[in-house]
Amino acid sequence: MRVFFSCLIMICMAATAQAKNLLGLPDELIQGGFYVGKVAPGSAVWLGEKSLKISPEGYYAFGLHWRQGSMVKMKLATPDGSIFPQRLMVKKQKYDVQHIDGLPPKMVTPPKEVLAQISQDSARVKKARTADSDRQNFRGTFIWPVRGRISGNFGNHRILNGTPKSPHMGMDIAVPQGTKIVAPLGGVVTMVSDLYYTGNTLLIDHGYGVNTVFAHMSTVTVKPGQVVRQGDLIGTVGATGRATGPHLHWGLNWYKQRLNPALVLGD
Ligand SMILES: [Zn+2]
Repeated sequence: MRVFFSCLIMICMAATAQAKNLLGLPDELIQGGFYVGKVAPGSAVWLGEKSLKISPEGYYAFGLHWRQGSMVKMKLATPDGSIFPQRLMVKKQKYDVQHIDGLPPKMVTPPKEVLAQISQDSARVKKARTADSDRQNFRGTFIWPVRGRISGNFGNHRILNGTPKSPHMGMDIAVPQGTKIVAPLGGVVTMVSDLYYTGNTLLIDHGYGVNTVFAHMSTVTVKPGQVVRQGDLIGTVGATGRATGPHLHWGLNWYKQRLNPALVLGD
């Protein structure tokens, strides 16, 4: 009986390993994680009901919601017409509560006269995040836009001056005012704007819906439409917008999905 049991488990494990190899994904996915997979050219891949954009070489990208459940359904259709439905396990992330006090009250509860600007700001960012270009910079390995102490983690539940606010959808790197910021990956600049909450804000499209956002910048040294290579200077760290001190707020998105940038950075 014991022999029969372990055989069953082995068959099961072999099948799972094969499925993951077919999708070209890591063994375990994580909430808020960003993934680049590789399938045979001419294949089709679905994440849930969503058909993913696949490069002619078979590369595709996607991200998982920061509160994604413990399992995600994917599906692969190979060029010969075979269909492989997949269930991938998703590891839970732990998110902290972060209290920030001493913010000017108008930055926590904005005065009425800036509400129109705030909604315009969010429409601009939303539009820039819909970029769906054919660039394939997303296939590269991210580098740190600035090196420094992480002062705010992705997914933190923020309590500003005692008032609970929406979770923190990026990572904060605390470095001195004026520190140079570089492009963590190549791409094209899709937005440069001075926004109420995030101050001088820059968005870079890395292709296939993958984009990164840089906030509270002191200066921005690139223009919309400009192509940047990984490591190019894009501006300097500041404390513009809602910030208690100089730091870079860096966000990673897959279309509208906010992802955890810390998960794509090496040491
Ligand atoms: Zn931040």
